Amino acid sequence: MAQLWTERIKQAVRPRIYKTLFPHRPQFDCPICGYHGPFKDKVVSKTPSVVRVDSKCLGCCAAERHRMMHLTIQEVFGDWGAEEKSLLHIAPEDCLKPQLKSLFGTYHTADLLQKNVDFNEDVQALSFDDATYDVVLISRVLTIPPDLEACIREMRRVLKPGGIAMIAEIYTHEKTVEFGKMVNSRSREIGVDLLSMTQQHFPKVDQYLSDRYDDEYQLTNQIVLDGNPASDYPELVRVPDIGFLDLVAVCHA
Ligand SMILES: [Zn+2]
Repeated sequence: MAQLWTERIKQAVRPRIYKTLFPHRPQFDCPICGYHGPFKDKVVSKTPSVVRVDSKCLGCCAAERHRMMHLTIQEVFGDWGAEEKSLLHIAPEDCLKPQLKSLFGTYHTADLLQKNVDFNEDVQALSFDDATYDVVLISRVLTIPPDLEACIREMRRVLKPGGIAMIAEIYTHEKTVEFGKMVNSRSREIGVDLLSMTQQHFPKVDQYLSDRYDDEYQLTNQIVLDGNPASDYPELVRVPDIGFLDLVAVCHA
């Protein structure tokens, strides 16, 4: 409990200090918590130096991808009658939980290892019956399980007819690079060909790119690699001399 209060105090004080120290940084809006002001750079790695500029909300710590997911969830499910529907949130992100709980009539969480979830599940072999859920949501998980095809097949299997799998990934290649073994807890780096794979299991796959939403939310991943802007990303998501866009696949069963 003491830790919770400490964190709340930090969240209240941090934006004021940051605004005072950096009065000329650009100002943005967070669609998740309503914060307005500068976002914080995120150091992804020190060697090589990789920084995501204007990444983290100082109000709720949400990054570009979280703000993107929040907006896409609202656009896809806001008028969908979700209060009558059920959602399985795999590897759940804390900052998305309040929105999803308020939208959906039934909200379940699952993860292979996390303890504070409803079900401990392997996405390659889900224990649920066919056609259990209306929606499955998964974000930045598919680099990890050894069998990518099984993950897609299982998400499709547990969806009811007319259901939706919302799949968010970081697309770093045109074609997925399989490692053939676990490297730094990952089996692969995802390529744009993941979208073709989803189309083999789902009759309709809509692509939501983060540039469909207003600039005020700062959804572009602005990558600075050793002091220079990085643009070595697949054409579909590349922003020349800046970085890349997030892409959410909305897969209709
Ligand atoms: Zn926020």
